[in-house]
Amino acid sequence: MTPQRLAFVDLETTGANPVHDRITEIGIVLVEDGHATRWSTLVDPGCRIPPFIQTLTGITPEVVADAPRFEALADEIQSRLAGCLFVAHNARFDYGFLKNEFKRMGRRFQADVVCTVKLSRRLFPQFHKHSLDSLIERHGLLADDRHRALADAELIWQFWQKLQAQPGLAALDEAVRQQFVRPSLPPHLDAGVLDDLPDLPGVYLFYGEDDVLLYVGKSINLRQRVLSHFQADTRAFRELRISQQIRRIEWRETVGELGALLLESWLIKSRQPVHNRALRRNSELCTWQLVEHAVGDFRPRLVCGEDLDLTQTRDCFGLFSSQREATLALKKIAEANQLCLATLGLEKTTGKGRPCFGYQLQQCKGACVGREAIGLHSARLMAALARLKLKTWPYPGVIGIVERDEVSEREDIHVVHNWCYLGTAHDEAQLAAILDTRSAPVFDRDTYKLLAKHLGGKVRVMPLAFAPKQTPGEPGVCGAD
Ligand SMILES: [Zn+2]
Repeated sequence: MTPQRLAFVDLETTGANPVHDRITEIGIVLVEDGHATRWSTLVDPGCRIPPFIQTLTGITPEVVADAPRFEALADEIQSRLAGCLFVAHNARFDYGFLKNEFKRMGRRFQADVVCTVKLSRRLFPQFHKHSLDSLIERHGLLADDRHRALADAELIWQFWQKLQAQPGLAALDEAVRQQFVRPSLPPHLDAGVLDDLPDLPGVYLFYGEDDVLLYVGKSINLRQRVLSHFQADTRAFRELRISQQIRRIEWRETVGELGALLLESWLIKSRQPVHNRALRRNSELCTWQLVEHAVGDFRPRLVCGEDLDLTQTRDCFGLFSSQREATLALKKIAEANQLCLATLGLEKTTGKGRPCFGYQLQQCKGACVGREAIGLHSARLMAALARLKLKTWPYPGVIGIVERDEVSEREDIHVVHNWCYLGTAHDEAQLAAILDTRSAPVFDRDTYKLLAKHLGGKVRVMPLAFAPKQTPGEPGVCGAD
């Protein structure tokens, strides 16, 4: 089962952060049919090397002064690693750094990865420490020049050979398979598509026979998430059904999580995939609005569907997916706070000034019969509802939320108005197209919650226009298929 070509990889870097730090040295031991070839190169990181890293690795600015930049090495690295199982100690680190170097160049690097820390943990669970130093000691590995890339790659290769001898090939294969799960593929799906899936954020769409949209999902790692759908041990009934029905996968990459969430929510609402039950329904969204009937006399009024416009409607409380749900929720609040159901309009009494049912049970403080001043009842109602208060749209018009990927320095602009998502643009032309789409967006609860949460945080917002054009149509979504 273990592939024929193995690449034992180790990197030296300017630090531990794959976004801000850079590679200074690459070491690869390539093993094909048991024969090892060794390759290493220094890399000019193009930035400062912290003194403690210089001390640890011996890689100083002078050492890398004449070394090539990563860009000049990319082709060679990619061709050396092509078709190899990527083996590294704490592989997430080395793989992540390499991926990011390629990403900065606008290129994709992808490999099947095996981590020797995980292997060691699995095969030798009796030990607590699995650092390279622990392995050297435990397995008698011969360390040549610790903390240099090729020497450390060599150590991982030595460790691998020890594993082949003890616990042996079969156990090693099994442990590798554990990490490198090739799920059993759905019967009608073209296997090639799974190799093309990027490990980037985005939204994926599963299609069935006759191109029926089965399911829409989002992830910060499309590849992992899609594969997880087909892993036998995590298969729930729904996964099983999807797996039997699926014929085709489509995906759209996004710069980050917010874009993926917005696009997912919009696709589910507008396309109604068969298996997305939870997020799908959006038919009659309702809220309670407090309306002042006389001075100080506030009563709740149900606002539903198209009447619910948070640029216009003030003092709204809660979002409910039906009138029934809204009524039940208000009843519960009233009961918990000894409010009067008749005064709230939730119960009919036999006449004006007649007590409500709750008053007779001492569950109402008597607003219905004048025992509680209506102003006080209103104030208590407001306090009870306060937690549910919806935010009115705080901008004069359309805004763009800028989401940025620090590695590729790519930016997405999510165009939003009145808590509605209008589309995502990658450049000026797409932005103009979205603003010109003349769409009348539909308000939905998930998007509202998402935006209310993110706009309260540290996102960059740019004002775009004062009012959207209001003709029916679809949001302009410019996906990067
Ligand atoms: Zn009452």
